[in-house]
Amino acid sequence: MDGSGLPVTRSTCPYCGVGCGVLLQPDGQGGLNVRGDPDHPANYGRLCSKGTALGETVGLEQRLFAPRVDGRDTSWDTALQLVADRFSQTIAEHGPDSTAFYVSGQLLTEDYYVANKLMKGFVGSANIDTNSRLCMASSVAGHKRAFGTDTVPGTYEDIDEADLVVLVGSNLAWCHPVLYQRLLAARKKRGTKVVVIDPRRTASCDGADMHLALQPGSDVALFNRLLVALYDGGALDVAYIARTDGFDAALKAAWNDSSKPTGLSEAEIQAFCSLWMSTDKVVTIYSQGVNQSTSGSDKVNAILNCHLATGRIGKPGCGPFSVTGQPNAMGGREVGGLANMLACHLDLENADHRAAVRGFWGAKTVPDKPGLKAVDMFRGVGDGRIKALWIIHTNPAVSMPEADAVRDAIAACPFTVVSDITDQTDTARLADVLLPASAWAEKDGTVTNSDRTISRQRSVLPAPGQARPDWDILAEVGRRMGFAKAFDYGSEVEIFREYAALSGIAGQFGRDFDISALSDLTDTEYANLTPQRWPISATRKGGRFFANGQFFHPNGKARMLPVSWKPPAAKTTPRFPFRLNTGRVRDQWHTMTRTGLSARLSAHLAEPFVDIHPEDARSLDIKPADLVQISSPTGTAILRARITDAVPLGQVFAPMHWTGETAPAARIGAVVAAAFDPVSGQPESKAGVAAVSRFKAA
Ligand code: SF4
Repeated sequence: MDGSGLPVTRSTCPYCGVGCGVLLQPDGQGGLNVRGDPDHPANYGRLCSKGTALGETVGLEQRLFAPRVDGRDTSWDTALQLVADRFSQTIAEHGPDSTAFYVSGQLLTEDYYVANKLMKGFVGSANIDTNSRLCMASSVAGHKRAFGTDTVPGTYEDIDEADLVVLVGSNLAWCHPVLYQRLLAARKKRGTKVVVIDPRRTASCDGADMHLALQPGSDVALFNRLLVALYDGGALDVAYIARTDGFDAALKAAWNDSSKPTGLSEAEIQAFCSLWMSTDKVVTIYSQGVNQSTSGSDKVNAILNCHLATGRIGKPGCGPFSVTGQPNAMGGREVGGLANMLACHLDLENADHRAAVRGFWGAKTVPDKPGLKAVDMFRGVGDGRIKALWIIHTNPAVSMPEADAVRDAIAACPFTVVSDITDQTDTARLADVLLPASAWAEKDGTVTNSDRTISRQRSVLPAPGQARPDWDILAEVGRRMGFAKAFDYGSEVEIFREYAALSGIAGQFGRDFDISALSDLTDTEYANLTPQRWPISATRKGGRFFANGQFFHPNGKARMLPVSWKPPAAKTTPRFPFRLNTGRVRDQWHTMTRTGLSARLSAHLAEPFVDIHPEDARSLDIKPADLVQISSPTGTAILRARITDAVPLGQVFAPMHWTGETAPAARIGAVVAAAFDPVSGQPESKAGVAAVSRFKAA
């Protein structure tokens, strides 16, 4: 309660991985007043433009109010029985691997846990993947290779305490704005130096000391140059290297990369290496520009190698730091909501881990091999291997690479279920069964942000119509498929307690993720749960990973990987001479399902656009605001031209938000090829190829 007499509820912003705390107060007319939570350790009261506009996005326009089958409203009973029957029938006829769930980093951890348990434990397939595959899968793979587990060592306090922050493939100013505000505050207070490594001159460069406009995809070559410079400059931490394996091979690979192209001058590389070498407290923040690459995992390991070789990890103000795009990408990793992971950071390929999880769940079997990752999953839908598909809170007909092919595959799938808050997405229109889910302000549960802090999301508005929480929908389908005992949940807290208890088993296996101290929370304690950074076990609370030089490989050491520069998969040709980069804008989120409802947010950049260098525009006779056709072998988009030298010559940049609904020909995903990192399965959305021309209407 505040002075107005209306209740104030602490919750979490549902957009990016910063995970800001918000104070929500219903305005009595169906809307919300929103303020930053001054006590939340992610934001201490700050919010960005998207966060402050949250109250403008909770209206009922475009909401889905009732279950629908083949376009007609129906009862929950009819819809859920149909889903359970069709999945059971498909499994019986074609086997478990003929079904798949494609879920989302928007899900709360409790929802995610139930979805993963249903698919891996009871359907008996690992075909559950998530749009987080497009977000941070390369970081997961890089962490596991280097540390033995998917451990994010960084914390937000490290950004406050660093003397040098390197942003690699991260437009923090627009994509994690509150973290960027923290960085600017640190810069003001202690003079923190900032280096931005990005082919584009982004908003993050405004506050930077150095911008390295590297050639797309050349991050491995640059960080290999840094590793060699650290060696040549006598800047290695020999004692720390003794806690790692693989240094000699990593250094040799780095030497071999010395003449590989970065697009940077020798002076720029030397200036960067000198600054890094002469600064003890270095934080390297990386995001989609690193992850969304056919060599994304190698880029991550090239960065980790430099931190491991200098002991710049596990100490305050130091470390590599992968920041997640989505509000609960981290929570999804914790519950194993990726096709190649088991729950609680346990491994699918490990028989002991599988046996422990199977026993805990009371499941007959847990798959021993990874399922289909996002790109392969939709290829499997397209070629008929997947015959029953459930898509939850995501819009792959817009957001996946080769979006036209993905849209056509979903349309042709024998049985597609979509759970969402709206029927107005390109994907929802393709569903055989459409299930109305509760929106963020109507749901209870937890999320985990980029620095491993678990926060509560709390409902403050009633769910409209017949909308229900996702865990409830999934559990009901599980019960109707014959797994009544395993999915006998009555509330979110029951799921949370089970998941926390399972993490204790992971802790017994020596894994990093353990929140078992929360496994006996009472309902009241869960209701009042304050933000907490894991691990949270009887023996460990919060704290810093790797401070003692202990890692999670069997011998307790970290591994340095020999990694070598590789060019992007797609080669420019005379027919497709441009490099295509895609990304986000400041005031939109994903495919605009929510942010598109705010006139204020839409006013920032009202139309889909493409950035083109002035010389390229001149040679193509493209004027500002002309309509431009961007084509690749996989598809075409029509966008408004913005002429700017923020993009280098020969490159174009287009945002990924606009959909078939908001602008029919603006789905840039259709133009992006589905090449992906062979280790992580993450697609290369930052270095495609394209032809560019002035659009001429037929
Ligand atoms: Fe929400 Fe991210 Fe903005 Fe924080 S920085 S208010 S979590 S969108």
